[in-house]
Amino acid sequence: MALTFKGGMHIDDHKNTRRCKIEALPTPAYVSLPMSQHIGAHCVPCVKVGDQVYKGQVIGRVESGLGCPVHASVSGKVKEIKEANAANGMKIVHVVIENDGCNTLDPSIQPYPKRIQDITTEEIIEIVKNAGISGMGGATFPTYAKIQSALSKVQHLIINCAECEPYITANHRLLLENPAAIINGIKILMKALGLRHAEIAVEDNKLDAINKLEQCLAGSDIITVRVMKTKYPQGDERQLIYALKGIELPQGKLPADVGCVIFNAETCYAVFDAVAHGMPLIERTVTCDGDCIKTPKNVRVPLGTPYLDVINFCGGLRAQPKKIVNGGPMMGIAQWDITAPVTKGTSAILVFSEKNDLNYHLPAACIRCGRCVANCPMHLMPNYLAAFSQKNAYDEADANNVMSCVECGTCSYNCPGQVPIVQYIRKAKTYLTARKRAQQAALASSQKPPAAENKPAEKEKSPKPEMQKESKKPKEGDTNAGK
Ligand code: SF4
Ligand code: SF4
Repeated sequence: MALTFKGGMHIDDHKNTRRCKIEALPTPAYVSLPMSQHIGAHCVPCVKVGDQVYKGQVIGRVESGLGCPVHASVSGKVKEIKEANAANGMKIVHVVIENDGCNTLDPSIQPYPKRIQDITTEEIIEIVKNAGISGMGGATFPTYAKIQSALSKVQHLIINCAECEPYITANHRLLLENPAAIINGIKILMKALGLRHAEIAVEDNKLDAINKLEQCLAGSDIITVRVMKTKYPQGDERQLIYALKGIELPQGKLPADVGCVIFNAETCYAVFDAVAHGMPLIERTVTCDGDCIKTPKNVRVPLGTPYLDVINFCGGLRAQPKKIVNGGPMMGIAQWDITAPVTKGTSAILVFSEKNDLNYHLPAACIRCGRCVANCPMHLMPNYLAAFSQKNAYDEADANNVMSCVECGTCSYNCPGQVPIVQYIRKAKTYLTARKRAQQAALASSQKPPAAENKPAEKEKSPKPEMQKESKKPKEGDTNAGK
């Protein structure tokens, strides 16, 4: 029987591209590479305008702290270094490279000189770090740091192939078309973590991928395919751990705290590419779909490529777009710029017309149907949380565990009263997070040695919503991973 979790719901999957083979995008005229495509410190460009760069060359490095380097995804000249919007609305530095069309590889890109079975854990971590790999399911947590934090702590390696968000089929196609690379990536991660077993979790709406993996594994008991019930949000890490292990992850804890570590299928692919070929993370698979797209496709895209190039490769637009989404329709982020770049976390580009946009302009009214409570996978009371937030009653929202919300969107999707529940919940979480940071800063300032105390202690301010974006102490789980 297919494994599952409590709560959640079945939603129309709209997997229109499930039979669309991955096609390579012809090289774009230019790429615009944001200096932060991961959770952690931003990179600082190590190239300047006018420099010739080669495909795979490092163009941005993290000076200190958690983070991943950024590499050129094409060869060409650095045309511009400028501030521009990232997918989350923050202004960050982008390095723009004019493509020379030559695809000249950087000479540093070489297969690792040792056989995979002879590489040590430290070497794997170093390769993954230098390759700039971050979680590709949307969370973008640096993979090397996830491996490091799991060392000697976890017993269960889980590969997340649930891909439970509607429309997205990028992982599904990768499993069908490159199963060997993904399996080899899993073996490398097993070696790094010193584990003898791994599980690949796939929803039962991908039976062809399940069969393909089982064929490739040929009865191996080292890697097992686990069939999950198709239900949203099956790909959320907490739901996956519960479905597979029967363990409820307590609030504020990470999978490693209960002996589990979870990687996305495409991340495994990137790990294999880095170790076997020396190739850093410079491209990814993107599903381009939505009712405005003429010919929905799965496309292999160099990072930094403008969305518009991918959309044009899919035949262009056939209707006036109302909303462009980076990621899935449930947890993705709406964009306002059709020329925004594809980054390490872009699993999909979805373009919807007016008829697919919810009527949030109608007055919202809770009719106390209880659907949101029945379906919440975190067993929260979304209707109460939304009401508390609406009244700025943040302490009450906190007391009712608003911080446990994984922002899966199940409640809003299912609400007959069209209450924008998740938006209210985000407002409360933003306020509480900012207030906690302000309190911690005030405490740290009051504990400084006397010389430093000459300066007046920073007054606790009423936190602004933007503060949540300025993640100062990032940790795995800061985003709602799991697609
Ligand atoms: S689903 Fe909507 S209408 Fe029903 S209880 Fe929840 S908030 Fe109210
Ligand atoms: S968005 Fe939060 S409150 Fe709503 S169903 Fe998901 S976890 Fe529950």
